[in-house]
Amino acid sequence: MAATHVTDPQIPAGADTIAVRRPSDGSILGEIPLHDADQVGAMAERLRAAQTQWEALGVKQRTHWIRKFRQWLLDNADELIRIGQDEGGRPANEPLLELTLMVEVIDYYTRVTPKLMATTTTRGSSLLVLGKKYTVHRTARPLVGVIGAWNYPLLLTFGDALPALFAGSAVILKPSEVTPLGVKALVRGWREIGAPAVVDVAFGGGETGQALVDVVDFVQFTGSVATGKRVAARAAETVTPVSLELGGKDPLLVLDGANVPRAVNCALYGGYTNNGQVCMGIERVYVAAGVYDAFVDQLTEKVRSLRSGVGDNSDVGALTHPPQIDVVDRQVTDAVEKGATVLTGGHKVDGPGTWFEPTVLVDVDHSMLIMQEETFGPVLPIVKVADTEEAIALANDSDFGLSATVFAHSTQEGERVAARLDAGAVNIDQFLANMMCAEVPQSGWKTSGIGGRAAEQGLLKYTRTKVVATSWIPVPVNDLNWFPYTPRRRALFRAATRFAHRRGLARFGL
Ligand code: NDP
Repeated sequence: MAATHVTDPQIPAGADTIAVRRPSDGSILGEIPLHDADQVGAMAERLRAAQTQWEALGVKQRTHWIRKFRQWLLDNADELIRIGQDEGGRPANEPLLELTLMVEVIDYYTRVTPKLMATTTTRGSSLLVLGKKYTVHRTARPLVGVIGAWNYPLLLTFGDALPALFAGSAVILKPSEVTPLGVKALVRGWREIGAPAVVDVAFGGGETGQALVDVVDFVQFTGSVATGKRVAARAAETVTPVSLELGGKDPLLVLDGANVPRAVNCALYGGYTNNGQVCMGIERVYVAAGVYDAFVDQLTEKVRSLRSGVGDNSDVGALTHPPQIDVVDRQVTDAVEKGATVLTGGHKVDGPGTWFEPTVLVDVDHSMLIMQEETFGPVLPIVKVADTEEAIALANDSDFGLSATVFAHSTQEGERVAARLDAGAVNIDQFLANMMCAEVPQSGWKTSGIGGRAAEQGLLKYTRTKVVATSWIPVPVNDLNWFPYTPRRRALFRAATRFAHRRGLARFGL
C-alpha cells in the first residue's frame, strides 16, 4: 500500500506515503507519511522527554490545556466533520457524535481527575501493621499508545487519549491507515493551542501499530478480536498492560408486550447508524412471535426509506473500509444459500465507492455466518422466537458480549432479562445509552475485550500506584514478626492476633 510520491508540502520528499481515499467514490483525498519502527522509536523518546514536565504541571494546569483543546474542538467542528464525512464516507451526524462525546469525556474527567489523582494516606488497621502509616501516590504511566479502528476515528484515538492526558501521560496515537486525516487535524489542533508537545501521531498500518506496542508503557487498543489477540501477545513480551476494546455481535430482544414502534425505531438506528459499522451496533434481532409481524413489517418499510449518501440530508453512508463490502456480501450470500429471505436490500451497489444496500433478512438461524461473525455493515437479520427463554438462550449463544438491547412489557421485566444476558451493558428501551455516558464503565465480556474505557477505571488504567510506608508512632527496635523466630515470640504473636480480631468480652476468651 505504501507509495513514494508526495504532493503534500509538509511531507518530506522521498518519504514513503499512504494514499487516503474517499469511500463514497474511491477518489484520492490526501496522503500521509508512513512511519517505520525507527521513527516510532524516535517519537517515543521525544514524548518521554516531554512527559515528565507535563506530569509535573499537576492536574490543574493539565486540565487548563485540555479545556483549551475542548474549545478548539468546538471552534473547528465544521472542518472536523467535513473530514469525517470525506474519509469515513459518513453523513455529518456521525462525526458530530464523535465530537460531542469527546467534549463529554473532557467535562467528566475535568470533574473527577482531582479526586482520582489525589494522594491518599491511611493507617493500617491490622496487627501486622500497627503504628504504620501509608501514603498512596498515583502517577501516570509515562507513555501510552492508542491504536484505533476506522469506524469512529476521532473518538477511538484522541477520545481514548484524553483521560491519559488528564492523568499526566504522553500519548502516541496510531489511527487506522484508512482514516488518519481527522486524527492528523486533531494533533494539529493540540499544537495550535500551544499545549506542551505530549501528543503525536504515528501513521501506518499493522507494522506501525506493532512498533508502537514495543515502545509504550500501556496499550489502549480498539479493533477486531484477531488483531487484539496479536496486540496482547506482542505486549506480553515486554509485560506491557493493555486494554482491548474488541468486536461485537450485539443482540436486540423484542419481547411480548414491547413498545413496538419504539423498538422499530431503535432497531433502525441501532442497525444502520454509521452504516452498521458500530462495535455496539445491533447485529442480531430476536422477536417474540406475538409482535413479530408488526415489528418486521414496520421495520422493513422504514429501512426502505433510509436515504443513502454522505450529504447533509443522508442517513446511511458508504462502507468506510473497502474490504468490508466483501465481508458483508459473503455473509448475506451465505445466509441466502442456507435459506434466509431478503425483505429489502441484499446487494452491493454498482459504481464507484463502497456501497451496500440497507438490508433486512428473515428466516435466519444460528448455522449462518451472519449470526455468528461480526458483520459491520447495514444488515439486520431477524429471528422469530417462541418466548423470552428462547430469546435469552439465542442472545447468549455468541462468542461476543459487548452490549445488548431489550424491549419487554415493563422495565422490571427488562431488568430481569438484563440480569441473564452475557454482556458488559444492557440497554432497556434504549440504544447505546451506556456508551453516551462517560460516568459508567464500558467493557466487553467474552471475546469482546479486556479492561475498558470510561468512568474512573478509564483514567486509573493509565496510572500506577506507589505506596510509601512510614510510622506514625516511634518505631521499636524490632518488629514482633522479624527475626529471631522463637517459640515465645511466636506465642506472643498468636495471642496478639487472637486478641486483635476479637471484640467485647470475646477478647478475654469469655
Ligand atoms: P483492526 O483490528 O483491523 O485494526 C485496528 C487497529 O489496529 C488499526 O489501527 C490497525 O491498523 C491496527 N493494527 C493492525 N494490525 C496490527 C498489529 N499487528 N499490531 C498493532 N496494531 C495493528 O480493526 P478495524 O480497524 O477493522 O476495526 C473494526 C473492529 O473494531 C471491529 O471488530 C469493531 O467491532 C471493533 N471496534 C470495537 C469497539 C469497542 O469499543 N469495543 C469500538 C469500535 C470498533 P490499520 O487499520 O492501519 O491496518
